[in-house]
Amino acid sequence: MSESRSRSGPAPVRRLNPRWLVLAGAVLLVLAFPTLAHGDYRLYLGTQVAIYLLVAMGLNLLSGYAGQPSLCHGALLAVGAYVTAIAMTDHGWSFWPAAAAGMALTAAAGALIALPAFRVSAWYFALITLAFADVVGGMLVEWGGLTHSFAGVVGIPMPELSGHALSPAELFWLVAALDIACFLMIANLIRGRFGRGFAALRDNEAAARASGISMIGLKMFAFVVSAAITGLAGAFYAVQKTVITPDDFTPDTSIFFLVVVVLGGSGRLWGPLIGTLAFFVVPELLTSLQSWRLLIYGVVLLALMLFAPHGLEGAFRAGWRRLVRSGGTTRPAAVTEAVRPTLDDDDQAAGMAVSIAGLVKRFGGVTALDHVTLRIEAGSVHAIVGPNGSGKTTLLNMICGFFRPDEGAIRLDQTDIVGRATARIARLGVGRTFQTPKLLADLSATANVMLGAYAAERASTVEVALWAPRAAREHALLAAKARYFLGFVGLGDRVGEPAGELPHSQQRLAEIARALMGRPRLLLLDEPAAGLSLSEIDRLGALIRSIAGLGVTVVIVEHHLDLVADICRHVTVLDRGRVLAEGTPDSVFRDPAVVSAYMGVRPVAEAQVPA
Ligand code: ADP
Ligand code: MG
Repeated sequence: MSESRSRSGPAPVRRLNPRWLVLAGAVLLVLAFPTLAHGDYRLYLGTQVAIYLLVAMGLNLLSGYAGQPSLCHGALLAVGAYVTAIAMTDHGWSFWPAAAAGMALTAAAGALIALPAFRVSAWYFALITLAFADVVGGMLVEWGGLTHSFAGVVGIPMPELSGHALSPAELFWLVAALDIACFLMIANLIRGRFGRGFAALRDNEAAARASGISMIGLKMFAFVVSAAITGLAGAFYAVQKTVITPDDFTPDTSIFFLVVVVLGGSGRLWGPLIGTLAFFVVPELLTSLQSWRLLIYGVVLLALMLFAPHGLEGAFRAGWRRLVRSGGTTRPAAVTEAVRPTLDDDDQAAGMAVSIAGLVKRFGGVTALDHVTLRIEAGSVHAIVGPNGSGKTTLLNMICGFFRPDEGAIRLDQTDIVGRATARIARLGVGRTFQTPKLLADLSATANVMLGAYAAERASTVEVALWAPRAAREHALLAAKARYFLGFVGLGDRVGEPAGELPHSQQRLAEIARALMGRPRLLLLDEPAAGLSLSEIDRLGALIRSIAGLGVTVVIVEHHLDLVADICRHVTVLDRGRVLAEGTPDSVFRDPAVVSAYMGVRPVAEAQVPA
């Protein structure tokens, strides 16, 4: 379609991307700033703000996007600053290798503090980072032979470039250029799979694991990148100050950076810039209010928490949206002809068989599964039914590795998966949906569905960070695929909508689309018809049949027995963790034991036992 248009009509006028305008404006502002600053003090201040902005961006990546609250970025700044300063003054290194060493050691420190993050929840983790900040602060004093204790490192020289020391203006340009580069890198990472992965890490680990994302790798990545950026800022901090002492890096410094990020808008691209400016520049303009600064910020922070949970950036954006609302709603993006994925465009692998033997799972005193033995044929649509609390969800959770069985075996085809991490099981080709949908509320429906392909994305981290052609192409193809699958499940007109704004029934369908993005060979659906209208259930039935038509094995936990009878050839009935009956829907639903198990907990009409 687009091809024929370009052939017949005049070449379309390419509109300038507003992003380039913003970038050009930023570059001009940076170039002009030393002239505009009128004096050394303002230039010094501008450089300091630019250095703090680096730290704030690094922290925002970790705490805002990846949801790992850090109270030790002041300490990481200290590591970068001290390593650079000591290498330059005591060992005569030039700035560049010293800064590289500072960055590398800070990144290593970041990896070190990441370790407890795999074990404890976010709040405990915040305390651990605070302790780390305290330890570093202590080391700066105690390791006097290295750090010169309270006296600090003095006489740190300016960086040299081809034999001459950088002027203050040149130092500013260098740091500001790094700010811009860092901003673009983070923007690209967030636009790519890391943005989706971080959002999952922050808001919904279960969704992330079910989509095949290795939590450990992703958390480690966030820590290391965040720490490296902060270490780089530390190197510049040292040379700008020329003297650094332990007093520069008290635990307050760390808390202060977190305040800057929250104030600006945590997990927002422009948040660090807005926060840094608000924290530094506004008080400089209002010098008469200096002594009230802490109080004012306390009040502002409280007000933000109450009225603008996404910080100043979020408040601006909401105000802007209200202003331009008349401009129309988001345009649903159509599937372009250029990239037209189909369900079976790769070789569709055959469905996966599941065999379960003697499976036992206890939760404290409750035996959720009691010696369940069950075989699910490859390529079949197999229903698991039973009263509430009979262990259906638990069974799905065991197949996809959320829980480890107390006894028994689970094989997917020939692979024994007991003890394997959920993400690894997902990557074998196991997709699932949840009884309560687990979507990332702030992300669009399309981005949520794209998450499902996370493990299959091939562009390297560097390619994503630079938005290299391969990353851009992969992104476009995945977005088109995601829209295709959204259309496939009947949500073609909701692609741009934030997932949190979809009604519950549509969130269930979006989860199916997300699971399909991972090209599953086994699809586990947990009560997909709950909350759907009768006509929606009919459509769901047709949808599941077409998924099965591709060869995918489908396991469906469902209360709507009409739907089960309609799409399944095999039914297993669970009751109080045991297999009560199995067979075809016809035989099973007539089984007196099954009827009485259902009637024991609910009226016949609700259980919908087909006549
Ligand atoms: P169903 O999906 O059939 O309604 P579930 O598998 O959710 O049933 O639950 C089976 C039993 O296991 C219930 O008694 C439930 O309370 C218990 N259970 C399930 N998950 C957990 C858990 N994470 N912790 C403790 N008990 C659980
Ligand atoms: Mg359940």
